[in-house]
Parts: sequence; structure tokens; C-alpha cells
Amino acid sequence: MTDRRNRPLSPATRLAQALKYVDERTGALVPPIQPTATYARDADYGKRRDFIYRRDGNETVELAEAIIADLEEAEACLLFASGMSACHAIIDALGTGDHVVVPEVMYHGVLAEFRRASALGRLEVSHYRAADLDDLRAQMRPGETTLVWVETPNNPDWDVTDIAAAAAIAHEAGARLVTDCTATPPCATRALEHGADISFHSATKYLGGHSDVTAGALSVRETGAFWQALAERRMLHGTVLHSFDAWLLIRGMRTLPLRYARQSESAMKIARHFDGHPGVARVLYPGLPAHPGHEIAKRQTGGQFGGMLSLVIRGGERAAIDVARGCALFYPATSLGGVESLIEHRKTVSGEGFRVDPALLRLSVGIEEADDLIADLEQALARVTG
Ligand SMILES: *Cc1c(COP(=O)(O)O)cnc(C)c1O
Repeated sequence: MTDRRNRPLSPATRLAQALKYVDERTGALVPPIQPTATYARDADYGKRRDFIYRRDGNETVELAEAIIADLEEAEACLLFASGMSACHAIIDALGTGDHVVVPEVMYHGVLAEFRRASALGRLEVSHYRAADLDDLRAQMRPGETTLVWVETPNNPDWDVTDIAAAAAIAHEAGARLVTDCTATPPCATRALEHGADISFHSATKYLGGHSDVTAGALSVRETGAFWQALAERRMLHGTVLHSFDAWLLIRGMRTLPLRYARQSESAMKIARHFDGHPGVARVLYPGLPAHPGHEIAKRQTGGQFGGMLSLVIRGGERAAIDVARGCALFYPATSLGGVESLIEHRKTVSGEGFRVDPALLRLSVGIEEADDLIADLEQALARVTG
């Protein structure tokens, strides 16, 4: 989109105006919610317009998809009822026996789905140390590997993977690169621009931004047979986003850059404050200059590192659980990217079988005043670690 003098409009402008949405019939600036389950056909029993049934999607979902595709500079976007259903569509669209390479440490639900596909003999799954490109290269089977999964920064360690370098490794072997950059939404990281073939986001998180919708987005640089397979999976699984949730997502996305900038700024303040704190053994945040992925993260986020960080508490698992319980302002809840700050003892949330430091607390920084959040963590730490 450009303005009247043909200058390209910034993503923040396009988002605030929902791509300058105006209802054709009424002139309304806010899109309607289209809840219909089915569509009347024309006199020849053909499609009147684009849709025949709810599972195909509808006009509310289509507008939300257009907004995300525009932001991602993607050819197309598909919205699902959750991030997990979007990930599952990818796994289900792969061929039986396909070899895939995925990180050892990543969002636990997606990892569990890959492990299940492997246990059932559906896929051959190899794992690489997250962010370690030499290990990724070593796991590739040229001509045989069909998919590489990158989560950056990854849950809950926030290690940073160089997307362009991972794309080169995947493409050299003839594989597709899928990225999960849920922690740095496309106002910061446009993964397709860095070489990813499919950009996945749990839109439940920053895109929605208000903890009131679950949604998953898949965006692609080029549509083709695999894309068609994903659209077909969504239609046959019945996992399209509901129109009311699409409407909430559109409403939430209008303020994405504003929220994300504030959350990034506050997380940086919190990370700096607790770096070297006597009650905290380690602060995991790519925004800190000493973080091994700092320079890559800077390039991939434009210097806005997001609102996700982890604190490894001195005193081990018990101390970490007590600090989380001692917070008054942070909600003890999972999820991320909402306007309210959350804290979680990650090992309790992910459960057995996932590699996570038992003393790690994952923080999702909201839009509250950063000094209030710092004071809350300070008082909780003081009670536990003295
Ligand atoms: C939340 C999340 C998912 C799963 O998305 P849902 O919307 O919860 O189904 C996948 N990856 C990451 C990094 C996430 O944070």
C-alpha cells in the first residue's frame, strides 16, 4: 500500500487502519462479524462469491488473513483455530516417512506432535541443538529431508537462530524451512524476508495481544501444491478460525506495533535490572548485549527484542516456584504476548520429558509500568532468597 504520493506506508499505519477497511455497502470503518455456517448458491448451484461453507473460511477470516499477509509480505495467509492446529496441518501435509529436522528445545506442544508422528512411524524426526547451525547441518540428509523447523527465539531459553543461514542449509538439501517466531511478531521479524518458506505464528500471543482468542497463522512466500495441501487439511479437519475470533484478532492487531514496542522496552528494563542480581543466577534475554545471539536478534527484530525473558532463580526449583507464587502483579499463568504480565514455572507447565532448567521462570511482560513489575519481582525475590 502507498499513500497519494506513492510513498510506501509503514506497517503500523496499515495495521491501525486494518488496510484502510471500509464496508462497501454501509461505509462502516469496522468490519462486521460474519457467522454463517453456509452460503446460498446461485441459480445454477454455483458459488455466488468465494465461499460455500464455514470450513472454507469467510470474509471476516479473509480480512484478518489479508492483514497478516500484508504484514509478513506473504503471498497468502491461512488462519487456524489455534497455533497447534496450524502446526498439525503442516505435520499432516508431509508425506509418510518424510525426514524432518526439528530443535531439541522448542515449544513443548509442537515438539510433542513431532515426537508422536515419529513414534507412529509417520515421520522420521532428527533433532538439532537449538540455534546451533553446525548441528543442524549435521542432521540434514540432502535429497531426503523435506522440512526444517526453526523456533527463534526459542521457548523457554530464548536462544536465537539465524533464519537466513538456516534457510540456506535447508534449501541446499532440498528442504523447506518453517519458522516459529511467535515471540517476535511480524512487526519485528518478517521471517519470509529472511528466507523462510512458511512463517508460523501462534496468533493467540502478540498478534491477538489481549489473551482473549486462540489462533494460528501460516504465511507463505509462494503458494503451490504444499500450500494447497495445508488449505485442504484445514478445510477437512474443520480447523478454520471462527469469525468472532477473527474479528477479535483484527481488533487486536490494530495496536500490535504500539504494544510490542512498549513490551520490548519494559522487558529490556527488567532484564537489565535483574542481570547480576544476587537472587538471580541468569537472565535469558536476547536484548542483553552479552547474549550469544544478540547481534543476530538485533538484525532479525530491528532492535525490538520482545517481551519474553526467563530468570533462572538462585536456590533451585523450590525457590523458583516460591518466587512465582510470591508475585502479586504478574499473573501465575501460561501463554504470552498479552497486555497483562504473566509468570510461570516452566518445568511445571511443560511437564516431564522436556529439557528445561528446574529453576527457570518464564516472564511475559505486558504493558503495565515497568517499575511496578520490577518492584513486584523484587519483593517476591526478597521473601524467598532473603
Ligand atoms: C503458544 C505457542 C504455540 C501454540 O499455539 P496455540 O495458539 O497455543 O495453539 C506454538 N509455538 C509457540 C512458540 C507458542 O508460544
